Amino acid sequence: MGGYDNNNIFAKILRGELPAHKVYEDDKTFVFLDIMPRAPGHALIIPKAPARNLLDVAPGDLAAVMATTQKVARAAMKAFDAAGITMQQFNEPAGGQVVFHLHVHIIPRQEGVPLKPPATFKETTENLTAHADRLRAALNAA
Ligand code: 5GP
Repeated sequence: MGGYDNNNIFAKILRGELPAHKVYEDDKTFVFLDIMPRAPGHALIIPKAPARNLLDVAPGDLAAVMATTQKVARAAMKAFDAAGITMQQFNEPAGGQVVFHLHVHIIPRQEGVPLKPPATFKETTENLTAHADRLRAALNAA
């Protein structure tokens, strides 16, 4: 397994060096929208502390990520009038991981609507802004 690369895309987003559609943050976690959503409202929850994935994350940071993941999932049900939530989390290339800063995917689902394939469709800035606003409003109302 490789180490943690301080210049991975999500580390740059955390440092404000790359833009992101931010939804939420607290002292240990940060939430933003996936730019290639598999369904509208697809969000990513990450720890602020460096961690490559599930295999090296500190247990306290993992617990914080999971607590935020539950908040985001509950808010996404309301914000996107979802019928369900798919949670995904990939580790190492063989496990499907592409970006090497731990992240959990929360994807709102509708009955009978399949997920888009991963990383195939880049959402418009206009839609990402609208979806981030909806999810943020639902989180603030919780
Ligand atoms: P994974 O490592 O979980 O397989 O996939 C990484 C995820 O990050 C993909 O869903 C991809 O669409 C998303 N992603 C890749 N680059 C960026 C980026 O620059 N900004 C955002 N917001 N998401 C990204």
